Amino acid sequence: MAQQQQATMIGLELPPVDRWSDRVVVALGMNPSIFTGPGTNTYLIGTGPRRILLDTGQGLADYLPVIERAVDEAGCEGIQEIVLTHGHVDHISGVGDIAKRFGVEKVSKFPWPDFDAGCPLDISSLGDGDVVECEGATLRALHTPGHAPDHLCYVFEEERAIFSGDNVLGVGTTVIPSDSGDLLDYMQSLERLLAEQPAAIYPAHGPKIPDGVAKIREYIAHRNDREAQIQAALGQGPAAIPTIVKRVYTDVPEVLHKAAEQSVASHLRKLEREGKASADGSTWSLV
Ligand SMILES: [Zn+2]
Repeated sequence: MAQQQQATMIGLELPPVDRWSDRVVVALGMNPSIFTGPGTNTYLIGTGPRRILLDTGQGLADYLPVIERAVDEAGCEGIQEIVLTHGHVDHISGVGDIAKRFGVEKVSKFPWPDFDAGCPLDISSLGDGDVVECEGATLRALHTPGHAPDHLCYVFEEERAIFSGDNVLGVGTTVIPSDSGDLLDYMQSLERLLAEQPAAIYPAHGPKIPDGVAKIREYIAHRNDREAQIQAALGQGPAAIPTIVKRVYTDVPEVLHKAAEQSVASHLRKLEREGKASADGSTWSLV
């Protein structure tokens, strides 16, 4: 467990194009950073001449040659349509380039008007239980908010796998943004993913996860551990969030502490709703 908590995506490298199953070719968004790791995974899914593309990266010029290579590697002719896990910029911003290059006319996601406004194609609305298909691939949408209110994961029926977007990552843990994230929703979303008993997980960042059930269980345990640690940190005395982060995240590089602050804030809001913590200005204490 300690080792998993230390794991971050800093320095992790993946090939720009790779085949992760008979039906899945991955193309990197070429947008590496401390938050995206090697970059956003975009997936060509299916077996026929025209595949589904899941997520589109960040709209960077280096991505187009990579997705062209991925189409070659997949042995297909083009892209039937785009589906998105959510509207964050590193998933939606490549839509315009892809649409132009491959003549794609359809992009589908769970609507989130604030974020969708910048998308150059009209968004086709997808909701919980909706199915998107191409030859050799059936994707069933699961509304899984928490990291983002519009987040969809997709059950890949042919492989009993899940495309998890940012809900479950190949390395490290998911950020729950303090403005639009919700930890209670997120924990419920993890339980929904677990109920699907996925064999493998294809995450939006980092390598393929071979044992999906074990990884989701690890994520749930990790959040429960963090919550206990935050309560213990507050037991040392009332504190503002940056101090709580320093008390709790002793095993995480300081460059990630800003992101950790968002997760701590989410935990504190959850504890507040449960009547276990309260805030006086920016200072939190146990109730
Ligand atoms: Zn995201």
